[in-house]
Amino acid sequence: MRAIIAGGGIGGLTLALMLHRRGFKATVFEQAESVRTLGVGINTLPHAIKELAELDLLPALDKMAIRTEELIYKSARGQEILRQPRGLHAGYDFPQFSIHRGMLQKAIYDACVAEMGCDAIITNHRLVDFAQTKSGVAATFVRRDGGPEETMLGDVLIGADGIHSNVRRKLRGEEGAPRWNGVMMWRGATWSKPFLTGRSMIIAGGMGAKLVLYPIHTHPDRPNETVMNWVICVKTGEDGDPSPKRDDWSRPGAAREVEPYIDGVFTLDEVNVRALVETTPEFYVYPMCDRDPLPNWSEGRVTLLGDAAHPMYPVGSNGASQAILDARKLADLLAEHRDNPEAALAAYDADRRPKTTAIVEANRKGGPEQVIDLVEARAPDGFDSIDDVASPEELRAIVGDYQQMAGFTTEQVNAATEETAPTPVTPATAPKSKRQRAQAASA
Ligand SMILES: Cc1cc2nc3c(=O)[nH]c(=O)nc-3n(C[C@H](O)[C@H](O)[C@H](O)COP(=O)(O)OP(=O)(O)OC[C@H]3O[C@@H](n4cnc5c(N)ncnc54)[C@H](O)[C@@H]3O)c2cc1C
Repeated sequence: MRAIIAGGGIGGLTLALMLHRRGFKATVFEQAESVRTLGVGINTLPHAIKELAELDLLPALDKMAIRTEELIYKSARGQEILRQPRGLHAGYDFPQFSIHRGMLQKAIYDACVAEMGCDAIITNHRLVDFAQTKSGVAATFVRRDGGPEETMLGDVLIGADGIHSNVRRKLRGEEGAPRWNGVMMWRGATWSKPFLTGRSMIIAGGMGAKLVLYPIHTHPDRPNETVMNWVICVKTGEDGDPSPKRDDWSRPGAAREVEPYIDGVFTLDEVNVRALVETTPEFYVYPMCDRDPLPNWSEGRVTLLGDAAHPMYPVGSNGASQAILDARKLADLLAEHRDNPEAALAAYDADRRPKTTAIVEANRKGGPEQVIDLVEARAPDGFDSIDDVASPEELRAIVGDYQQMAGFTTEQVNAATEETAPTPVTPATAPKSKRQRAQAASA
């Protein structure tokens, strides 16, 4: 079976590697001219890291990322609301990683190239159209520099082409621009002094203005510093307004736009927010947006994955993680239904769509970050003791319910580790890369 994957982001590349390991021929078509390390920091949760560990990516992640140890929710004035351990420190079998999005994408890309060969990822190919018959799919691509259209034939087509997915548009019709919730996000990363454990994450503020801080990278040449990721989210419009800025993850932000939201808004002992912004060579602005969940993703031999299927607000650290979980489910189901890809895609839709729809909807209400919204609403002028505002049980329940719904409580992740092993590849179909042959030989 040959799978055509449109989009070489975290979701598309992970799927390609997983399909390859199950004996399929998968080819990724990416519109960009090369896979470059774009974006800033993201968090990847233990259930997704479990999947990347099965792809042997843990050593690469440890070289480039930070194993997150704790998350502290604070008021804008720096008063602690809730502190929780994260990753291995919370009892998970797998870590949580704070990582540069582009570095994670590159790590998966490198693994794809090493195992599948350079031909598996074809850049400078933008999917513009597709057609399917009962026996296959024909996908049409154009190059950035023009030239004739190229048509590729495959057994299935997976649209992993992000929030502006062309596959989704073709499947479901024109939906217009993504839906903005009125929040603008300025995102950057710069070398800075570490705070607390050096692996701590802070989310501070509330509905009107929120600050997210976490380290994403260290380097032996700069032993006393860390690359600090920062996000300042400010409500500048109304929910459902058309966004004043196009949702482009690579749009540079301007200091004058974000400055009014620094002084007097956030007062944290751990970090000088102004200095952080001023020392960031280039940062980005992005409207917080998503799309309404779809009634179905799969149609015959075509389906959607990751942001193409379920773009969600970046709260709760689920964007990349859910794309990775989609990939695992789809790869398993295609392996289970080798002779019936339509059945695999329908089963994938039935499993993953309700789960991710629930996360999209929960994120619209603030996700786990409702803990800071709630405290800000009840105590806008601060508090003497957090217990006067909300009990630890009430706050922990908000975070715990979100984790349960999104499938990453300690029990859910650790139980899944015990139950699931990667689907075995039959010798007849097993693709033996140089690396796999070397591993087998040394074993
Ligand atoms: C450049 C960039 C920077 C980002 N930065 C951040 C960030 O800082 N913080 C954060 O939380 N999230 C960021 N994201 C989003 C985050 O990566 C995703 O939410 C998450 O990783 C899910 O990934 P995905 O693979 O589904 O989609 P994406 O990461 O969006 O990947 C989609 C890929 O498909 C390609 N593509 C799009 N259309 C076509 C087409 N028609 N044909 C072929 N290829 C196509 C895109 O170039 C891209 O490589 C960024 C996304 C991008 C593309």
